Amino acid sequence: MTSAPASTEATVVIGGGFGGMSAIQTLRHRHPEIPVVLIEPRQRFIFQPLLYELLSGELQPWEVTPDLNQLTASLGVSWLRDSVVSIDTRQRSLTLASGRSLTWRQLLITAGSQPNDYGTPGVREHSLSFRDDDDVQRLRQRIATLKKRSLDSALVIVGAGATGVELACKLADLLDGAAALHLIEMGSSILPNSTAFNREQASVALERRNITVHLNTAVTAVEAERVLLKPGTAIRHQGLIWTAGSQAVSIPILPAPAHHRGRLNIEATLRMEGQEAVFAIGDISGCPDANWPATAQVAMQQGAAVAEALAAQRRGSPLQPFEFMDRGEMLSLGVGDASLTGLGMTLAGPIAFQIRRATYLTRLPGASLGLRSAGAWLLGR
Ligand SMILES: Cc1cc2nc3c(=O)[nH]c(=O)nc-3n(C[C@H](O)[C@H](O)[C@H](O)COP(=O)(O)OP(=O)(O)OC[C@H]3O[C@@H](n4cnc5c(N)ncnc54)[C@H](O)[C@@H]3O)c2cc1C
Repeated sequence: MTSAPASTEATVVIGGGFGGMSAIQTLRHRHPEIPVVLIEPRQRFIFQPLLYELLSGELQPWEVTPDLNQLTASLGVSWLRDSVVSIDTRQRSLTLASGRSLTWRQLLITAGSQPNDYGTPGVREHSLSFRDDDDVQRLRQRIATLKKRSLDSALVIVGAGATGVELACKLADLLDGAAALHLIEMGSSILPNSTAFNREQASVALERRNITVHLNTAVTAVEAERVLLKPGTAIRHQGLIWTAGSQAVSIPILPAPAHHRGRLNIEATLRMEGQEAVFAIGDISGCPDANWPATAQVAMQQGAAVAEALAAQRRGSPLQPFEFMDRGEMLSLGVGDASLTGLGMTLAGPIAFQIRRATYLTRLPGASLGLRSAGAWLLGR
């Protein structure tokens, strides 16, 4: 961890995830004269799209969750391992969990999202989540326990969006019949936001693995060993993973900012509504003029764009609107299997798996030749 400058001249970045690290990477490479301070409580960068491969052991921790110490040192960025607990935009100051205060010239908020249980009773107490390396460890332990049991066992995954479907397929391969898998979805189809090709491939992958999909089924409560469903049925389980929703991380901001669908309201230029020098990107932000999905792809592109906006603002140049370029969708569908669509390509099976893995690990284009890890992606250019 590098010590942060006391200067109010710095651009302060809250959150060292996809949006924050992409912004920092671009700032360091294209505008190295701008002093940058990162505030991030985690020791590691979490490359979430590859957590399934971390769970299965197809990839190693150094590839999927590189150490931020090394990354920030290599990029020459000051990093405070701390959390922001409040922001005062009038004073251009923020307070950290450690009690320390910091001022800024420009602020970038990119603190991401967290699970949303929609107030469903028992979810917090009795469910696992799947968002970081600690979750992966907990799930690995659960798999090991289930493999030792001789009784009938079941794992339940709630939410048939991309995370739920990808996780179900990977878990089925890892459990190898040691537990039944149930995928519960409130809506009328799996993967409502995916392309028809990926949805079809995913349906085939789920069926091939004997995963029971419950559509039009809402969870009303989660208990230690049971999940209660509408209309009035229940499934016994030895583990429930909640992937059914996410919401923006909430950091108290004064004066209270405008929100768009529960996220910080930003303009097309990525600047926060009504603010001169405060920008927000990634899962924490929402723009009423655009329907950018909450994905790593969007956060990374916004990171590169906001770095240019921050530099332009310092020069007194006008800010340009952000334009998202959809590069398609890639799904992990079990060990060694994937499906992808985008940029004129549709592909499924082992070759799609290799392409998905290589694309994420090297983050083409932009990475140097031969780089393999997520960390290398963050440093490469
Ligand atoms: C299992 C899984 C698989 C996914 N797969 C894909 C995929 O295949 N493709 C895709 O495009 N997207 C995928 N996503 C979504 C993608 O990971 C997110 O959209 C992306 O991480 C958003 O980037 P972000 O920078 O907004 O937030 P994050 O990457 O989550 O970074 C936010 C950072 O802010 C930090 N932070 C939080 N609160 C504070 C605070 N108060 N102070 C300081 N720091 C704070 C957090 O510790 C975190 O490091 C997946 C998500 C999950 C959970």
